Amino acid sequence: MQNEHWDVIIIGGGVAGLSAALILARARRSVLVLDAHEPRNRFAPHMHGVLSRDGYSPLDLVADGYREVRAVDGVIENARVLRTRRIDGGFEVETDTGARATARRLIVATGTRDRLPDIPGLADAWGRGVVACPYCDGYEAAGRAIGVLAGSVAGLHKAHMLRSYSANITVFTALAGPIPETDRLVLEERGVRFEHCAVTHVVTDGDSVTGLGLADGTTTPIDVVFAEPAPVALDEPLRQLGAERTETPFGSWTAVDAFGRTSVEGVWAVGNSSSPAALVPIAAGSGATAALALNGEFVAVDVAAATARVDAARAGGSSDADRGLGDATAFSLSAERR
Ligand SMILES: Cc1cc2nc3c(=O)[nH]c(=O)nc-3n(C[C@H](O)[C@H](O)[C@H](O)COP(=O)(O)OP(=O)(O)OC[C@H]3O[C@@H](n4cnc5c(N)ncnc54)[C@H](O)[C@@H]3O)c2cc1C
Repeated sequence: MQNEHWDVIIIGGGVAGLSAALILARARRSVLVLDAHEPRNRFAPHMHGVLSRDGYSPLDLVADGYREVRAVDGVIENARVLRTRRIDGGFEVETDTGARATARRLIVATGTRDRLPDIPGLADAWGRGVVACPYCDGYEAAGRAIGVLAGSVAGLHKAHMLRSYSANITVFTALAGPIPETDRLVLEERGVRFEHCAVTHVVTDGDSVTGLGLADGTTTPIDVVFAEPAPVALDEPLRQLGAERTETPFGSWTAVDAFGRTSVEGVWAVGNSSSPAALVPIAAGSGATAALALNGEFVAVDVAAATARVDAARAGGSSDADRGLGDATAFSLSAERR
């Protein structure tokens, strides 16, 4: 890990980072993936909406990805990157084990973690009876008693989305604050109930959620809770490099172009690192998209260097590429494309 100047270091080996790694390793680039191995959806036993893997375990998907990347000579190490910095010719990263590695390019695929409301029992059931995403877990909640733990007025929209799965929906509003009358009336018109008393705890029968306990001492029977956790970007590697940010509905996030390029030349962000709402197939797609574009830049570097050598030979002089400026060409090429 320490002796090689890699073509690409990928920080984070979830679906986004591994998808990028697979493409780049198959393109015969030297790839090092450094992964703390805590994918966001590790709390869920099954994932959904993932073609050909519906109901598959998220951790098994990552294990498959490790095998596939290693089979084409990608290198994966379990380590957490603590520091990133720009050096001549690329970037250096340092891990929690004190190891250092350098590369021409960096892909950051560190994702996000979810900050849940501080309600006893909520975190224990996270990914099973307490979930967040109707597209991931709505189908399994069909016909059941659904509780929407709204964290904001905007979060009421989840109740509208879930209405196609169940007629038995209660919105718990205490965390969201006052609900505008029109929002309440429209939801009630669609058969959704409201509970304004504060939720104090999640009630379970050991394995499954059975209700939400309230401050007035009562319990509302609930089978599945749809919460509204705040996504927290695990973006320290990008912040250390000074990547520009942009405002999103989820707060300030790293800004990227359509291919995943950040404002820092040579640094890319994919998956939840660039889009906190990206589900598994979208995160995988963004990793693959970035890998194709990044490999295209490498090819452009080689073509530019060869062209410069041909031009120099014709003119009888030495080329920029011969003086080691090949990668500078790549950076200016990518800047022109932005
Ligand atoms: C409970 C739950 C259930 C979900 N269910 C579904 C579902 O059914 N279907 C679906 O499509 N989506 C689902 N999702 C969304 C899914 O989790 C994301 O789409 C997916 O994880 C994004 O992939 P990623 O590669 O961007 O990030 P992640 O999968 O989170 O991978 C990021 C990786 O980077 C590592 N990392 C972070 N920081 C560092 C660092 N400094 N150094 C090294 N490594 C680092 C992490 O440990 C992790 O291994 C669910 C999410 C949650 C929370």
